[in-house]
Amino acid sequence: QRSVSRRSATTMSGQNGNYEYDLFVIGAGSGGVRASRIAATHGAKVAVAEESKYGGTCVNVGCVPKKLFVYGSHYPEYLEEAKAFGWDMSVQNLDWPRLVENKNKEISRLNGIYGNILGRAGVEIIDGTATLKDEHTVAVGDKTYSAETILVATGGWPKVPDFQGREHVITSNEVFFLPDVPKRFLIVGGGYIAVEFANVFHGYGSKVTQLYRGDLFLRGFDGDVRMSLRDQMIGRGIDVKFNTDVEKIEKEDDGTLKVTLRDGGILEVDQVMYATGRAPKSRGIGLEEVGVELGANGQIKVDEWGKTNIPNIYAIGDVTDRIQLTPVALAEGHCFADTLYGNKPRNVNYEYIPTAVFSNPVIGTCGLTEEEAREKYKEVDIYKADFKPMKHTLTGMGERTFMKLIVERETQKVVGCHILEPAAGEIIQLVGVAMKAGATKQNFDETIGVHPTAAEEMVTMR
Ligand code: FAD
Ligand code: NDP
Repeated sequence: QRSVSRRSATTMSGQNGNYEYDLFVIGAGSGGVRASRIAATHGAKVAVAEESKYGGTCVNVGCVPKKLFVYGSHYPEYLEEAKAFGWDMSVQNLDWPRLVENKNKEISRLNGIYGNILGRAGVEIIDGTATLKDEHTVAVGDKTYSAETILVATGGWPKVPDFQGREHVITSNEVFFLPDVPKRFLIVGGGYIAVEFANVFHGYGSKVTQLYRGDLFLRGFDGDVRMSLRDQMIGRGIDVKFNTDVEKIEKEDDGTLKVTLRDGGILEVDQVMYATGRAPKSRGIGLEEVGVELGANGQIKVDEWGKTNIPNIYAIGDVTDRIQLTPVALAEGHCFADTLYGNKPRNVNYEYIPTAVFSNPVIGTCGLTEEEAREKYKEVDIYKADFKPMKHTLTGMGERTFMKLIVERETQKVVGCHILEPAAGEIIQLVGVAMKAGATKQNFDETIGVHPTAAEEMVTMR
C-alpha cells in the first residue's frame, strides 16, 4: 500500500506554463528518489514514475537485502569461534524461510519510508512503466504527462550470456527469494556479486563452487588483496575455479543441474547463479526513438552534468554505466537537482570513491591499486601489513588481515588504500575522507592509533 496521496496529473498545471511538470523522473531507485526529493525541496514541481517497488535495486534486490544476508551468514562461524572464549554453543537448524520473511518485512518497511519521503517533499508518484513519447512527453499506461526536463534513472538489469541451458540459471534478482538454501550452489562470475554471494551461501551451509573465466577474480582490485581473499576463501572451504567457463547446463529428472565446463569438467549442483555484470536498463522505453544517444552496452551517454545529447533529457545512476554504486547514484541525483533547481551548480568528483566488497573477510578499497599507481607515477612507496587478527590468537582460525597503503613518493600523498578485514567497509569510509583531503603518509603517521584495533595499523605502517 502506498501511503502518499495521488493526484490526477492531467488536471494540474506546473510552475512552467508550458508543461505540467518542471521535472519528470523515470525510476524511483537510489538516484531517482534523491533527485526527485531534492528538486521538489528546491521548489520544482516533480513527478516520478516507478514500475516496481520504491527504492530500486539497492533496497529491493541489492545492497540492503544483501547486507542482511551477509550478517546472517556469519553466525555459524561466530559460534565456532565462541568456543575459544569459553562459550559452548552449537549451530542448530537454520530456518531459512524465517530469514527471508524477516528480510521481506524490513524491505516493505523501507518501501513505505521511500514513498513517504517523496510524498512529504511534494513529489507526485505515478505507478507504472514510463516510456518517452517525445522529448517533453512521457506515457505511463494510458496517460501522458508533459515536463520541461526529463531525468532517466532506470538503473540496470543482470546480464546472462547465451549458452545451452541458460533458462536453468538464476540471477541476483531471484537469489533473495529462494525457498531454501541450495545444497550445492554454483556461482558464475568474478565481480562484486559473485564474490559476495559465494561467501554468503558458504556461510549458510551450501557447498559453493565459484567459477571465473579469468586467472583471478575481482579484476581491477589490488592484486595482493585479490590473492589473499582467494586463499582465505579456499581455506574456508569454498571451491574456487578459475580459467574456465560454462559450456552447457542440463536439468536431470531429479532436478539436479548437470553443468559441463569448457575445460571438460562436469559439476552436479542444485542451483546456478549468474553474476556476470549488469546492463543499463535503457531499451524499449523510447530513448532511441526520441534520439537519445546510447553506447555499445546500452548506456545513456551523458556529459559531466548528466545531460544527454537532447538538451532537456538527463540521466544518472546505473543506466549511465559509470560507477555502479548506490552512493554514486545518490550523489549524481543530488548534484543534478542542486544544479537545475537549487542554483548551486555542482557535479560529482569521481576521484577517491571508497567502496567495499562484503566478502569474508570484507574488502575496503579507495584510490589506485598498486598496479595502477606504478603505471601512473614515476615512484611509489608501498606499505603493507599482513597479520593474524587479535581475536584469532585464541580461536586458531586461519583468517588474516591485510592492509596496504600506496604513497606517491614525490608528494608523499596517499593515493591508494586496500584493506582485507571484517571491518574494512567501516575503516575505508574514513580513510576515504583523509585521501579526499589530500592526506600525506606523514599525516597518517602523526595520527595517534586507537588501541587495540585493526584500524590502528593504518597509522603505524612504516
Ligand atoms: P536503481 O536503484 O536500479 O533504480 C532504478 C529504478 O527504475 C527501479 O526501481 C526500476 O524499477 C525503475 N524503472 C526502470 N525502468 C523503468 C521505467 N521504464 N518506468 C518506471 N520505472 C522504471 N551498491 C553499493 O553501493 N553497495 C552495495 O553493497 C551494493 N550491493 C549490491 C548488490 C546487488 C545484488 C546488486 C544487484 C547491486 C548492488 N549495488 C550496491 C549497486 C546498487 O544497487 C546500484 O548501483 C544502485 O541501485 C543504482 O541506483 P539507480 O538509481 O541508478 O538504479
Ligand atoms: P561486475 O562487473 O562487478 O563483475 C562481472 C563479472 O562477470 C566479472 O568477473 C566478469 O569477468 C564476469 N563476466 C562478464 N561477462 C561474462 C561472461 N559473458 N561470461 C563469464 N563471465 C563474465 O558485475 P556484478 O554483476 O558482480 O555486479 C554489478 C555491479 O553492481 C558491480 O560492478 C558493482 O558496481 C555493483 N555492486 C556493488 C556492490 C558493493 O558495493 N558491495 C555489491 C554488488 C554489486 P571479467 O572481469 O573477466 O570481465
